[in-house]
Amino acid sequence: MLNEAWKRRLIHIAHSGNGRDYNLKTKMEYPKTVLGQKIHQSKTMSYSFPWLYKIRGTVLQNEILAPYTSIQIGGPADVLIFPEDIHDLQTILKHKGSQPLFILGEGTNLLIGDQGIRGVVISLKNCFKEIKRPLFFRKKDGNRRAVIKAGAGVKMSYLTKNAARYSLTGIEHLVGIPGSLGGAIVMNAGAEGIETGQVLRNLTQITLDGEVQTLKREQLSFEYRKTIFPDGGGIIIEAEFELEEGKRIEIQNLMDRHLSRRSKTQPLTVPNSGSVFKNPEGDTAGRLIESIGLKGLSVGDAGVSIKHANFIINKGAATAQDVNCLIENIQSEVKKKTGIDLQTEIVYAGK
Ligand SMILES: Cc1cc2nc3c(=O)[nH]c(=O)nc-3n(C[C@H](O)[C@H](O)[C@H](O)COP(=O)(O)OP(=O)(O)OC[C@H]3O[C@@H](n4cnc5c(N)ncnc54)[C@H](O)[C@@H]3O)c2cc1C
Repeated sequence: MLNEAWKRRLIHIAHSGNGRDYNLKTKMEYPKTVLGQKIHQSKTMSYSFPWLYKIRGTVLQNEILAPYTSIQIGGPADVLIFPEDIHDLQTILKHKGSQPLFILGEGTNLLIGDQGIRGVVISLKNCFKEIKRPLFFRKKDGNRRAVIKAGAGVKMSYLTKNAARYSLTGIEHLVGIPGSLGGAIVMNAGAEGIETGQVLRNLTQITLDGEVQTLKREQLSFEYRKTIFPDGGGIIIEAEFELEEGKRIEIQNLMDRHLSRRSKTQPLTVPNSGSVFKNPEGDTAGRLIESIGLKGLSVGDAGVSIKHANFIINKGAATAQDVNCLIENIQSEVKKKTGIDLQTEIVYAGK
């Protein structure tokens, strides 16, 4: 049994976060209970990031990023912040100084290095999750359309299903894309011939100077899996899409067909980060890789999926180095046998 003096000491250590055995991986999730007492830990714990105590959301230091990615790979972030709101974002931008910044969506198109990401990583997983009721209007041609507004942290699949509830057509082809709205805009994610940029009306972002800025579709340009921002881009917080009124049953049936096709053709039950390579002009990367017999090729625990040759799967303990090595092997084999240079679609982050 602990005597009262020891209990007081332990509770004091928990409050201050200065215990001798205090772990580097400091989770600032509040409150914690230590010996029956609620602890609101002191947030002054980093020399590099002395401003972290100002953040109202969750702050994790030296947090391994693998669990935040769909391929389950990636070393630690110096600081991973789950902002609570726009003020948190502005606080980060105001105080981060020269520290690098990386925005994490749902992590479904990323390869994060084994050494992790230096500086500040922001995840919008816990905020900007609202989808507003669509606002209907009639166009000159008599067709009813609607504007639907959603936060950047909303999953693209939720948004498409929500639009379908209101019989809105235009984004149903994107139902199987597993990332967030913010990630879909940055990547100009697309499927079945429809790209995010085609239906986007405008987006609101926080610029790196902390200003709230709304950009209309016309101010952006869209390429294959890439959106180009006039001033380099900031942190997208919400966006509006303009959709047309359609027939709910048809929209629903189409989404069901897309989802069932994906589950038959993509390795959805094993960790992966979607299509690794961009499709070359007039062909698909998957067909090319399969045609030269690379399905099943592995480096360590990273392997070319048997189900879809443009997917690299993590069979358990794959590292970013394994994936990189496999990517280089595929590129060099494809080049040797077909003369085509495969370009990567996945986003590399960190070391
Ligand atoms: C099984 C599977 C199937 C897939 N199918 C498709 C498909 O059919 N078509 C397709 O295009 N893609 C597909 N993808 C890839 C991926 O889902 C998309 O690219 C998706 O849009 C990425 O969104 P995300 O939230 O996961 O972004 P992340 O992967 O987390 O980030 C991607 C990029 O966006 C940036 N970013 C994310 N959020 C923000 C924000 N709020 N503000 C500023 N920058 C931000 C990140 O910094 C990074 O540069 C698939 C992936 C998987 C795993």
